[in-house]
Amino acid sequence: MHSLYPQVMVRFTVLASGSKGNCTVVSGGNTRILVDAGLSCRELFRRMEQAGEDPRTLNAILVTHEHQDHVNGLAVTARKLGIPVYFTEATHREWMRWMTPRRRMTYAEWLEQCRQQAAERQAEAPGANPEFEDSECEATAVSIVAEAAAEPSEEAKPPKPDPTWLPAVEYFQSGRPFQVGDIAVSPFTIPHDATDPVGFVFQAEGVRLALATDLGYIPPNVKAQLKGVDLLLLESNHDLDMLRDGPYPWQVKQRVLSRVGHLSNDATAGYLESGYDGQATWIILGHLSESNNLPELARLAAERALNGRASLLGNRLLVAQQHEPLAPIQLA
Ligand SMILES: [Zn+2]
Ligand SMILES: [Zn+2]
Repeated sequence: MHSLYPQVMVRFTVLASGSKGNCTVVSGGNTRILVDAGLSCRELFRRMEQAGEDPRTLNAILVTHEHQDHVNGLAVTARKLGIPVYFTEATHREWMRWMTPRRRMTYAEWLEQCRQQAAERQAEAPGANPEFEDSECEATAVSIVAEAAAEPSEEAKPPKPDPTWLPAVEYFQSGRPFQVGDIAVSPFTIPHDATDPVGFVFQAEGVRLALATDLGYIPPNVKAQLKGVDLLLLESNHDLDMLRDGPYPWQVKQRVLSRVGHLSNDATAGYLESGYDGQATWIILGHLSESNNLPELARLAAERALNGRASLLGNRLLVAQQHEPLAPIQLA
C-alpha cells in the first residue's frame, strides 16, 4: 500500500522567536499549524517562503497568549488565509479588548458628542426626531464617518470593518487535549503575566513536540508535560547579569525576573541539568531578549548543563533567532 503522503514526516519550523515576535509552524500528516502570529502578515509570509513553507497550506493558528509579540499579525493573517484561530476563551476576550481600545472621555464630553451628532443628523434630514437613545450614538458616529467618505450613492454604506473579526474562532481549555486535523494538541498552563497563557505539546505520527516560552519558572505541571518529547522549544530569555545592568527600568526588570515573567539562561540550564529527562533529539532555546541576552551566553549555559550529563551529548542544541527563521527540523 502506498502512503497517502509522499513523505511521511513531522516538521517544526521556527520563523521567529524573541521579545519582538514569535511564530512557529508545526506540520504533521496532512496538517499545518501556525503557533502564534507575532510578526506582521507580510513578514510572516516572507519568512515562511524563506523556510520553504507555503502559507496557503496552513490549516489553523493557535495562540499561546495575548501579548503583542505573539499576536501582532494575527487578524490580518487569519483573514488573508481564511483559517480558524484557536484561543482559550479568556485569551480571545483579552485580545478583543486589546484590539478595540476605547478613547477615554468624560460623561460630559460623551453627552456633548452625542448632542452634536444628533444635531448634524437633524440638519441633514429635516424633520427627523432630534431625540436619541444612548445606543444610537455609536451608530450615528459610524454613519457620519461613512457618509463623509462615501460616494453620492443612496445605498446603505458598509459599517466600519471590525478589527477583531476572524474567519472562525475555536476555543480550547488548558489541560484538555484536542485535535487539529492530523495533529493532537495538549495545551498546558504556564506561569506568565497574561490572562490565560499556555504552552503546547503536539503529537503526530508518534512524534512529540513541545513549545514552552514565556514562563517565570518551570512548575511541576510543565515538567510533567515536557517528559518524553522528541523536540523541545524552551525559553532562555535573559542573562541575569545583563538584565541587572541593562537598560530596562526597575519595574520591568522586576517583572521579567518574577514568577510570572521569563526564564533566565540559568533557570533553563538548571532544568536541563536536573529536571529534564534527556529524551529530546532536539532542544531549541527560544524567546531570547535582544537587550538582556546573547545567543552565545544562552547556548553556553545550556551546553554546560547538558555536558554535565554525558548521556545527553547526542542532543542537538539550536538557538532560535528573532530576525531569521531556523531551517525546518524534520522528524521521522
Ligand atoms: Zn508574554
Ligand atoms: Zn513573548
